[in-house]
Amino acid sequence: DNLQANIYPDSDCKVLREKLSKYYNCKTENILVGNGSSELINMVINAYCEKKDKVVSFIPTFSMYQTYCDLCGAEYVGVKCNEDFSQNIDNLIEKILEVNPKIVLLCNPNNPTGYVTKKDEIIKLLNNVNNSLIIIDEAYADFLGDSVIDLINKYDNLVVMRTLSKAFGLAGLRVGAMIGNEELIKYIWKVKVPYNVNMLSQIAAIKALDNINLVNSYIGEVNRLREELSRNLKKIKFTVYDSGSNFVFVESPVDNLFEKLMNCGILIRKFNFNGKIYYRITVGTEEENEILINEIRKLL
Ligand code: PMP
Repeated sequence: DNLQANIYPDSDCKVLREKLSKYYNCKTENILVGNGSSELINMVINAYCEKKDKVVSFIPTFSMYQTYCDLCGAEYVGVKCNEDFSQNIDNLIEKILEVNPKIVLLCNPNNPTGYVTKKDEIIKLLNNVNNSLIIIDEAYADFLGDSVIDLINKYDNLVVMRTLSKAFGLAGLRVGAMIGNEELIKYIWKVKVPYNVNMLSQIAAIKALDNINLVNSYIGEVNRLREELSRNLKKIKFTVYDSGSNFVFVESPVDNLFEKLMNCGILIRKFNFNGKIYYRITVGTEEENEILINEIRKLL
């Protein structure tokens, strides 16, 4: 009803940022909205890194971090997770102090492993690292129900990335948010292109935030179904790693699971880490999860 496609959208996303500030429990001035958090992550890496500058992150993690670094010539330095995909924050801190990166990226919960870094560990990271920008990518944090957004004014080198693509189910709208102290947000704002978030997306995102109870019940349902799916996969001899997200990361007793499930119309993600095959399975609806388990049973 209030869509005027012949005029430019609000470049400052004022109303949307006000709504987001209530959801994220911060000030409007602490938020910069992007065309998905992808745009924001790329923007920050570009703003901070010259050729050869370093970016430190755990591996495995969200693969696009490396791509954005490659695009601007920054050097991506990966710190290996433990064998069970847990992440040792002391190893990360040690590497940071060794290579003095411009940026540290920590995905929490981690994609694709689902691993959750505890808040006191992130505080330890923040207390030990002052010379690098620390980006905590909380793309999946809505499912976890925990965040470090409350620390942005305590640590001026902390940035939190959030998105409406996961728990809000609005990936097609491309709305992400970068949250940090006011100075930092003002600084990054200088490199933002005008009108980066289109009018339709702003309106729809505002509507979604006005109906936050729907999002919250969806989150509760996903968390319940994830635990149920994990239990059922364990019963049929899968190794299932603890996840704080809307997917589970697993080892399968069935060889070529990706290809076999693809043949019955089920798409999962396949990963190869250190020569071993792992899968990331997104939590579906109750029925979808049942179909998945039944199809796997036939393959056993
Ligand atoms: N961070 C992580 C960890 C992700 O998994 C994704 C989406 N796959 C993104 C950021 C980017 O999400 P979007 O651009 O849709 O906000």
